[in-house]
Amino acid sequence: MIPLDVFGSESVVADLLAQVRWRNGVTCPLCRSDLTVKNGSYGHFQRYLCKNCDRTFKDKTGTIFAHSKVALRKWLFSIYAFLRFSTSLRQLQLEIDVQYKTISQRVERFTKALDAPSLDLVGPVEIDEVYVSAGLKGRERDQESRSRGLSTRGRGSV
Ligand SMILES: [Zn+2]
Repeated sequence: MIPLDVFGSESVVADLLAQVRWRNGVTCPLCRSDLTVKNGSYGHFQRYLCKNCDRTFKDKTGTIFAHSKVALRKWLFSIYAFLRFSTSLRQLQLEIDVQYKTISQRVERFTKALDAPSLDLVGPVEIDEVYVSAGLKGRERDQESRSRGLSTRGRGSV
């Protein structure tokens, strides 16, 4: 496992999302107009006002990351760990501290959007809330994550 903090702070990944998303300029996701102005912020994310349709939108609006209270860096981490290291949904759930349903639905959506191989979500899925809430939290697991992260670095290529 790679450590979550490899993705830096939320403001760094928010900037990254904005750069990638608006690489051809900011356009309104609702009416496609480019008559937009910055309009305050929403957490770490920029908000915009469309002067054509008079509605506001944010960096995440209309993306696979929209409508999630989970930090963007956690989702980026999940996508990366899932695709690069085949980290299980169960382990990701513990790592980013969300419900199993949340991680499985998002990862399914991400892999579809990326046209990437996804897990077989149809097979038997073990739901064990006791294990999850009592489970592998704290320093011991973090240390294990870090050391494993180092050992997997440089193995294979993307
Ligand atoms: Zn608009």
